Amino acid sequence: MIRQTSDLNSSLSRYSRQILFTPIGEEGQRRLSASRVLLVGCGALGTHLADTLVRAGVGFLRIVDRDYIEPNNLQRQILFDEDDIAAGLPKAEAARRKLQRINSQVTVEGLVADANYRNIEQLAEGADLLLDGTDNFETRYLMNDLAVKTHRPWIYGACVGATGLCLPILPDDSPCLRCVFEQAPPPEMNPTCDTAGILSPVVSIVAAHQALEAIKILTGHLEAVDRRLLHFDAWQNRCVHLSVAAAKTADCPCCGQRQFDHLAGKLAAGTTTLCGRNAVQLTPAEGTRVDFTAIAAKLRAAGIADVRHNAFMLKATLDGLDATLFPDGRAILAGTQQPDQARTVYARYIGS
Ligand SMILES: [Zn+2]
Repeated sequence: MIRQTSDLNSSLSRYSRQILFTPIGEEGQRRLSASRVLLVGCGALGTHLADTLVRAGVGFLRIVDRDYIEPNNLQRQILFDEDDIAAGLPKAEAARRKLQRINSQVTVEGLVADANYRNIEQLAEGADLLLDGTDNFETRYLMNDLAVKTHRPWIYGACVGATGLCLPILPDDSPCLRCVFEQAPPPEMNPTCDTAGILSPVVSIVAAHQALEAIKILTGHLEAVDRRLLHFDAWQNRCVHLSVAAAKTADCPCCGQRQFDHLAGKLAAGTTTLCGRNAVQLTPAEGTRVDFTAIAAKLRAAGIADVRHNAFMLKATLDGLDATLFPDGRAILAGTQQPDQARTVYARYIGS
């Protein structure tokens, strides 16, 4: 008995400075240690989030990411180093190894997988909170559907260039992502880190807000959660907290009508490996239209030199793949048979 108490004390002592903060205290720390979190995406935001939550003592963290580490990730993806690249490690596994060295008292799972409508419910099983470390609206709407359907909180975060966004979503209490953004912006209006760049401190700011709200939620302090949409431009020195409470209406297809179309796969982008062609076809949600002129300008600005298009198709070489894009957003990416690689390249350069 004495030994158990001393083990508990020593396990708590590493969190002493956090416990000293009155709203957390020992009770809050125990709640954190008992909590389970699903983190989807382990890139810029994801590595910052995982680092903070594992150091804070979240009991169980499941990380899902489909990607490998590349040299251009190291500028902002704080859990990775050059050895991970040399070892050819996927992000989820490299993150898991680093995080377990940071805190061996928490359980970290790293799953190399593409979170989609077929597997997300299983991935989120037992999770008290879902965290957005993704780079695309398709996965975010999926997380939003799941969170609303199962009455679990989730925290949206996004950043590109010097701008950032953060919104904690408490499904029964605050607007959901579709209340605020009913549809994803068209691809040409949606810059990505691979087309418009990203400053590392901007990632830190967004992830810090997400992690802070996560700690409030997991320690049971829902009253302290900021339900406003944070939107800032760190280069122009502008920061606003937008009240979005009025956006929650009974008309929202997700939290109002409780139609979970993304979760049902009705709006999902599809991928098909084209047999014998070493190519993957990617089909976006129905109704998508893309503007070739705007996409060509975005790609050229990102340093893609060989972009050319007519009214029927746009062609370019993206990360070594021969990409052909059609007006309905459909793309054929030649040079791979891996759907995950094709989806990654599409999300990077075309957007979703
Ligand atoms: Zn809603």
